Amino acid sequence: MINEQTSYRVRFAPSPTGHVHLGSARTALYDYLIAKKTGGQFILRIEDTDRKRLVEGAEEELINGLHWLGIDWDEGPLKGGPYGPYRQSERKEIYQKYARQLVEKGWAYYCFCSTVRLKQVREEMQKQKQPPHYDGSCRTISLEEAEKRIENGEPYVIRFKTPKEGKTVVNDLLRGEITFENKNLDDYIIVKSDGWALYHLAATVDDHLMKITHVIRGSEWLPTSPLHHLIWQAFEWNEPTWVHLSVFLKPSGKGKMSKREAVQLSNDGYSIFIKDLEDLGYLPEAVNNWIALMGWSYDDHTEYFTLDDLVEKFSLEKLNPSPAAINFSKLDHFNKMHIKKLSERELAERISPFFKKNNIDAPIDQLEKIAPALKERIITLDDSVEMCEFLFKEDISHEPDALLIRDISLERSKEISEKVIEVVRSIETWTLASIEEQITAYMEKEALEPRQLLSYLREAISGQRITPPLFDCMYVLGKEKTISRLEGSREILAAL
Ligand code: GLU
Repeated sequence: MINEQTSYRVRFAPSPTGHVHLGSARTALYDYLIAKKTGGQFILRIEDTDRKRLVEGAEEELINGLHWLGIDWDEGPLKGGPYGPYRQSERKEIYQKYARQLVEKGWAYYCFCSTVRLKQVREEMQKQKQPPHYDGSCRTISLEEAEKRIENGEPYVIRFKTPKEGKTVVNDLLRGEITFENKNLDDYIIVKSDGWALYHLAATVDDHLMKITHVIRGSEWLPTSPLHHLIWQAFEWNEPTWVHLSVFLKPSGKGKMSKREAVQLSNDGYSIFIKDLEDLGYLPEAVNNWIALMGWSYDDHTEYFTLDDLVEKFSLEKLNPSPAAINFSKLDHFNKMHIKKLSERELAERISPFFKKNNIDAPIDQLEKIAPALKERIITLDDSVEMCEFLFKEDISHEPDALLIRDISLERSKEISEKVIEVVRSIETWTLASIEEQITAYMEKEALEPRQLLSYLREAISGQRITPPLFDCMYVLGKEKTISRLEGSREILAAL
């Protein structure tokens, strides 16, 4: 039984080395949920000690992504907190101090091997069909000698002195005990020659100093978990609870997603990157709902969750360690669900930026009028642009043939295109009900079918075959613009 009575301190510790993807967003979400649920704290820590891999703008993208998802942190960049700084690049001296402690305790040692030597060692091991690892030649250098060599300016790294025999057992909340043979582990580098601590040391020290109770992270970190466990032991600190989440599989359910497949996905209008999902017109509510259920479930049927619902219902106990396939049709499904829950005003406000991005001036009040019709029809917010841009454009164009009314003569088509303008002109109060009433009455009078008259009107006012319901469109377009478009179409027909 997992104790969720005490408050948890959890951290999301991304490295700003690229775009924020679904896996990171899910970790952050679970961290946020369990912190809120237990009345604890969610800490955002930027793990940027690997200076070579830093990507400019990645931290900003990360922060924007979390803001967009509504995943707010209690301590971290922009907020501060009692255990800061929360950016590892501002904590270099702290790690150096603790690395030194490990050396003094005999759990780590200075290593002066050159890259040339290390390469030779690796090649030799490969020849002997051994998995490449460090041969430990600097293990026996005394601290005194090592200090002298450092003083003389010799470059060095610090390595962890991993036991050569026995086993290391990591206890994972979801997976139970995982046993690693120490002979398969290496004397991993914990401080590099440029003086920067590696993630393994930096994260351990920070998790301790920041009083983290639960480390929730992707299962790609399982292979390094024995090293982390050993570092915790070396310091004689109380370890946090380890929670390694399920991996994400590509939509087919077979294997992890490759870079090439991610590109293909974007050609299909999907993406595994948070910033793209925003641009594609997915709601953060839907993304949260979707990723929450990739590795967790509440019961076997509830699927709609708001962020507040998730805070109330989430628990580590129901996490599922089995791999989860990324299913984009589910995302579409959740997006539709969450769009339907928006008020008309909210939907108008959410779609408005998509019109702006396409340089279409679409007033919010107008968008609000068409919102009820859109709610039933769009999958992404972006869909609304293609569906409705004709409402806001000055000019639309037609394929003349598309204006021909089906199954009647050209002469009669011309005549109808003329008469229907009069009908529209005669509508005194421009409401949805009166538009519908008068057009329907006229259609009956002329013994026309909807597929004849309404299809003509749709093409005439929009230049599109697919639009929201016709009467809604006429209503939002306004009487004057509707008439002028009908006149334009009449001219085209007349010239045929
Ligand atoms: N900095 C690591 C990353 O980029 C964090 C791993 C962890 O949460 O311990 O994912």
